[in-house]
Amino acid sequence: MSRRGLIVQKFGGSSVANPERIKRVAERVIATKRRGNDVVVVVSALGDTTDALIDLASQITQQPSERELDMLMATGEQVSVALLAMAIHELGEDAVSFTGAQVGILTDGTHTKARLVDINVNRVVQELAKGRIVIIAGFQGVNLNQDITTLGRGGSDLTAVALAKALKADECEIFTDVEGIFTADPRLVPQARKLDAISYDEMLELASLGAQVMQARSIFVAKRFGVPIHVRSSFSPREGTMIQETSKAMEDMVVSGVSLQKDEAKVTVRDVPDKPGMAAQLFRELAEHHVNVDMIVQNVSREGSTDLSFTVIKGDLPATLRVARSVSHRIGAGEVTTDEGVAKLSIVGIGMRSHSGVAARMFEAMARERINIEMISTSEIKISVIVRKQHAERAVRVIHKAFGLEKSRRR
Ligand code: ASP
Ligand code: MG
Repeated sequence: MSRRGLIVQKFGGSSVANPERIKRVAERVIATKRRGNDVVVVVSALGDTTDALIDLASQITQQPSERELDMLMATGEQVSVALLAMAIHELGEDAVSFTGAQVGILTDGTHTKARLVDINVNRVVQELAKGRIVIIAGFQGVNLNQDITTLGRGGSDLTAVALAKALKADECEIFTDVEGIFTADPRLVPQARKLDAISYDEMLELASLGAQVMQARSIFVAKRFGVPIHVRSSFSPREGTMIQETSKAMEDMVVSGVSLQKDEAKVTVRDVPDKPGMAAQLFRELAEHHVNVDMIVQNVSREGSTDLSFTVIKGDLPATLRVARSVSHRIGAGEVTTDEGVAKLSIVGIGMRSHSGVAARMFEAMARERINIEMISTSEIKISVIVRKQHAERAVRVIHKAFGLEKSRRR
């Protein structure tokens, strides 16, 4: 951007993984400043620091206090902000670093996944007025008791979006290790194309589908307050992808992206009595054990009982099995089986609201390749299917092609 303004720039862990990269970030921040902008920078912990800290705790205890876990994890970002400030000083600019607590990022008391309550930007505004670059530790805040809290994994995105809103920033740039949001994972689909823009709703679906580019909650907040986000690479000057309100161009495009998730497993409870309350009991108890159920399919009942299948994240499988077997026993249902040989493939696009035949086109592409569909679920802007894992990548490629998403093709 060449226009003067207030810009929030967030750099993720991979962008500040080592001193060389921190110096490059410093140069980029300074370049933005020297174009005449006020700059607020949010940084994550260096590389995989947060994982390393959690691992360290696990060598002490299997049940760390969540308050202390927050104390521990928040140190990661404190290292980054100080180092980045020093790197900026080395290059002759003025910068000052702050923890979340110091700049009044107030949260509720839910340790390890605290919710933002308020941001008092006075200090930030004062420092900007002195001509300084302000660097703020991502992912952390403080509750009313002055205890340090964290905002959930990937929470630096949320810090950046919330600051952009509170400061009424002109831009919120999220720097990461990919060029933007693609129509599919370029490692699976070499012809995948970088999108110039994507709507909040699509991005929310993709984030929850595991696109791993941004924290889902940060997109939710961006949508709620209408903060446009520019996701771009910290290793290249190229423009990335804007995450913003729906535009006409987006609506014209039937599908924006195809995504693949391999970390789900299918669970089937056989011979569930076909009477009211059975599904309620199973899913109530799963919820009580914090198991997040994704797709659910109940077959047509025959002779008074039915098979019920659903998917969960693989990590939740042990808990799911325990609960499902216990419920099945109590309600007089049959065997509980699991299947880890599945993958979930989804297409997302707000164009689905106004175009018909989208599901048919997806299923036909799979049929031509003789790829069997085991489960289907749909929302207003998403169609997901469960297929055998060994066919999943091929399925992504044929569907990507069926919707004309390759590079060089007009939308
Ligand atoms: N360092 C934190 C994490 O790894 C926050 C972030 O990276 O956004 O989850
Ligand atoms: Mg991180």
